[in-house]
Amino acid sequence: MKITLLGTGTPVPSGRRMSAGYMLEVGEDLILFDHGPGCFQRLLEAGKWPTQVSHLFLSHLHYDHCLDYVRLLLTRWDQSDDNVPELSVFGPAGTAAMTERLIGPEGAFTLDLEARTRHELSTQTYQLRGGVMPRERPAPAVSEVSSGEAIAGTGWQVRSVAVPHVQPYLECLGYRLDSDDGSFAFSGDCGPSNAFARLAEGVDVMVHMCHYISGTVTGAAWEESVAGHLEVARIAAEAGAGTLVASHIASQMDAPGIKERLTAEMAAIYDGNIIWGEDLMTIPLAGSTPAAHIG
Ligand SMILES: [Zn+2]
Repeated sequence: MKITLLGTGTPVPSGRRMSAGYMLEVGEDLILFDHGPGCFQRLLEAGKWPTQVSHLFLSHLHYDHCLDYVRLLLTRWDQSDDNVPELSVFGPAGTAAMTERLIGPEGAFTLDLEARTRHELSTQTYQLRGGVMPRERPAPAVSEVSSGEAIAGTGWQVRSVAVPHVQPYLECLGYRLDSDDGSFAFSGDCGPSNAFARLAEGVDVMVHMCHYISGTVTGAAWEESVAGHLEVARIAAEAGAGTLVASHIASQMDAPGIKERLTAEMAAIYDGNIIWGEDLMTIPLAGSTPAAHIG
């Protein structure tokens, strides 16, 4: 199992950090968790092609977690011949309606899909790629997930749990994936959640939203809906995670010297490996061991 961070940022535009997105290679499957703006470009930079993506799990439907979904759907379909299975999509309530409103008969891209399935310019390109007419529209297998559900793949299993974020307007899910190689948990966007800590118990790698420096914002809405660095450390400690990856990182934490101070504060609470996520970083499942020599 290989874990690559595609996007470690927030909704705030950034050239350094794309919005939320993570990639897991498990057996023959390429599994994405969230696909926020910029993550599709990072997928290409990671050496992957959209037709290789087999599964997508969405934590919630804030645009910083799903804006590149439509780019993935359209390019994956457009680059496919008849031998590429449809994308399997899992997400909270609203995922099916959003998909329909993007690529359904009345969807935003219906004219594009009409042209690409009917005009010779596109149908010939499709046939040259090995496709057989008539060319069908994209038809991803979309499943809406509720808290506590388990989804079985080939050699892996994903479980979900509801996490506190912006309910009742959006449902938000945290996920855990287990495989023979190791385990991975992703908080989605959430405030401190014992339910997520229980889901993530003993996990090898926990990716958790670390949105701000604890104490720099106040009020129930912030403290219950998003996590700061001290809350993240407490959740990782409660779960007994082997490695904590801080992601969804706001620019206040990227100033020189700040993360070093925050890491020390987190390490006083949590004794596992602490990694500050960066786009395109590959996460070692069992933490890194320093090389014996300097080079
Ligand atoms: Zn977010």
